[in-house]
Amino acid sequence: MITVTDLTKRFGQTLAVDRLSFQVESGEVVGFLGPNGAGKSTTIRVLAGYHPATRGSASVAGFDVAKQSLQVRQSIGYLPENVPIYPELRVVEYLRYRAALKGVPARDRKVAVMRAMAKAGIEDVRRKLVGHVSRGYRQRVGLADALVSNPKVLILDEPTSGLDPNQRRRIKEVVRELAEEHTILFSSHILAEVQDVASRILVIHRGTLRADGAPDELVRSSVGRRLVVAAACDEAAMRQLLAGLPIEGVELVEGTNGLTRASAGLTEGADPRAEIGERAVAAGIALQELKLDAPSLEEYFQLMTEGADRAAENEALVGDSETAGAA
Ligand code: ADP
Repeated sequence: MITVTDLTKRFGQTLAVDRLSFQVESGEVVGFLGPNGAGKSTTIRVLAGYHPATRGSASVAGFDVAKQSLQVRQSIGYLPENVPIYPELRVVEYLRYRAALKGVPARDRKVAVMRAMAKAGIEDVRRKLVGHVSRGYRQRVGLADALVSNPKVLILDEPTSGLDPNQRRRIKEVVRELAEEHTILFSSHILAEVQDVASRILVIHRGTLRADGAPDELVRSSVGRRLVVAAACDEAAMRQLLAGLPIEGVELVEGTNGLTRASAGLTEGADPRAEIGERAVAAGIALQELKLDAPSLEEYFQLMTEGADRAAENEALVGDSETAGAA
């Protein structure tokens, strides 16, 4: 339903999106997650036909965003980060005006607006002036606007930003309801906002894709996992138990009760538990605990974004010291 291929977008010197590729299948609800400045809005604006790409391509509902922008705009409902306000219009008038603008035939407009208001849960404010409704309702007026032409695809840019917890919960409920009939891509810089609504999460940082998977799948992947071992032995025996395994940054604590606990980072994809079990049996050491600790999704998200920056900085430092060493 949405295909992004090698998409690059520059603003002068700023590389906002850097060779980004992903796909969203029909019926999916995909959370587009990344810190501020990651390139989410830029990607979304390219998809919505508001920015031309610098390089690469994108299509929505089978239409190329560069060559068939009219068809693209008719196929998607787009909720921009800042919903435009027409304070002097009543909600229902505003939506009828938007329906007309989007080419909904005059005879269908009334029904289309009623349906969109029902889906967005704003029938109770239909007679109010847009300028007089709360921010949470205004966001839902924006959602109704996105829905008024009954598009297959909804693209929502930070739909919950600036809302209080109740308003956020309501928006999430609406998105969940809409998921039954629409393919949805929605962005956020807050993990908790996408975690319980999205069936899949794309993590973007500095314009590039860092992760792509179901929320629990992302955590289950070994990135950021730690090995935890506790055994009835001293530190030296624990070191032997762990020698040569695909782990790093081993931390040991020898307890007064004859137990030593170890924790260590795992090389991606590694699971040395069976090996440790066999070694412990061979050495006659009783294991008290042997497990892999998954990071929380929050920790995972940090690892994928800030952690990635730190790794890049470290690499740069290593590079510098190597150069310095060679000189
Ligand atoms: P996000 O939506 O993830 O917060 P954006 O896509 O808004 O990120 O921004 C990505 C980068 O592109 C940022 O460095 C931002 O300053 C820059 N940027 C976005 N829009 C423009 C623009 N119209 N002109 C210049 N720079 C822009």
